[in-house]
Amino acid sequence: MVFSLTEDQIAIRDMAQGFAAETLAPHAVRWDEEKHFPIEEMRQAAALGMGGVYIRDDVGGSGLSRLDAAVIFEALSTGCPTVAAYISIHNMCAWMIDRYGADEQRQKYLPKLCSMEHLASYCLTEPGAGSDAAALKTKAVLDGDYYVLDGQKQFISGAGVSDVYVVMVRTGEAGPSGISTIVVEKGTPGLSFGANEKKMGWNAQPTRAVIFENCRVPVANRIGPEGIGFKIAMAGLDGGRLNIGACSIGGAQGALDKALAYAQERKAFGSRIADFQALQFKLADMATELEAARTFLWRAAAALDEKTPDASKLCAMAKRVATDTGFEVANQALQIHGGYGYLADYGIEKIVRDLRVHQILEGTNEVMRMIVARSLVGRAKGN
Ligand SMILES: Cc1cc2nc3c(=O)[nH]c(=O)nc-3n(C[C@H](O)[C@H](O)[C@H](O)COP(=O)(O)OP(=O)(O)OC[C@H]3O[C@@H](n4cnc5c(N)ncnc54)[C@H](O)[C@@H]3O)c2cc1C
Repeated sequence: MVFSLTEDQIAIRDMAQGFAAETLAPHAVRWDEEKHFPIEEMRQAAALGMGGVYIRDDVGGSGLSRLDAAVIFEALSTGCPTVAAYISIHNMCAWMIDRYGADEQRQKYLPKLCSMEHLASYCLTEPGAGSDAAALKTKAVLDGDYYVLDGQKQFISGAGVSDVYVVMVRTGEAGPSGISTIVVEKGTPGLSFGANEKKMGWNAQPTRAVIFENCRVPVANRIGPEGIGFKIAMAGLDGGRLNIGACSIGGAQGALDKALAYAQERKAFGSRIADFQALQFKLADMATELEAARTFLWRAAAALDEKTPDASKLCAMAKRVATDTGFEVANQALQIHGGYGYLADYGIEKIVRDLRVHQILEGTNEVMRMIVARSLVGRAKGN
């Protein structure tokens, strides 16, 4: 049972929070406005061990746990949820190679991913296959020592800038068992990108389509055997969902801290707005909901570390709770700022916009309910 952080975890959190406050927070609003992807700053985060948080240390990873990662991504996100979330996706890709890749593949890709000299993108979603990801159609046809890829991935974070694309492709029959995972390197002929999407939030990282046209990729780039790509993709998402939940909690904690400070300065009806009990109760509820979500996320992270049979279900539950709670708390923090909360300079509306997409990606929160419901109904039926 984990109810408090160890001394080491507190030190890691303080390091990540200090980095977020000094290196991310002062620029977050400008990066959002200018749609700037802060690669140099992410490399600084990697130099502190955040490029390969739960990657083994023989290839430059930090060898930490999922619980440590949840603590780190929450702390990073207090500075900028968008940058923290991209680093979390990068970590997810690196972990897929670390966990399922052959040793040569690990040695080839992971040192540069852990230092973030190279960036990674996770390529599952397609224009016609989002929630129903197992319906993906991007083909990889074997031709000697190469696969020839044709198809399109949609909404890919980091696309166009990333060096390493971890792509789920169809090598066999319809459904999940016909899917394999292949690493495609930037610069491979036949790999191209769509325009950077115009988005509500997450503006400090690019989102583009990734297009494969007669794109020849060595068979040696396949991660694991043919047919286990969907399993690899879903295993990556268990941890990814914890991380994105942690990013929601961190973003919301940042918004709550701003609201607390603002409520003690702002005056109305002759007193500080923090003196109104209705507002105090709102703050109390925000802090309570956030703490409940955080505690539950840590529980799911501990389950994933221990590889318990219900870990995937707990990760789905925690993602749903953490991202819904994070969005609601951030939105209430905006309300406490009144009209000023709606202005970009206060940095609150940006957090609300950034956290909104966490309810959609890495599996929508409806898909999280499907995962939980399947396990409940399955169990009730004795399946
Ligand atoms: C900014 C951004 C970045 C992203 N980054 C990545 C990335 O890096 N890599 C990647 O692979 N993908 C990425 N995605 C894609 C994201 O994971 C998908 O958008 C998401 O999985 C939903 O798929 P969809 O958009 O096709 O929606 P759909 O699957 O079409 O769903 C539409 C609506 O129907 C609901 N729905 C669908 N099926 C059911 C059901 N059975 N029961 C109840 N409701 C259902 C959904 O919950 C949703 O509300 C990103 C998306 C965005 C917006």
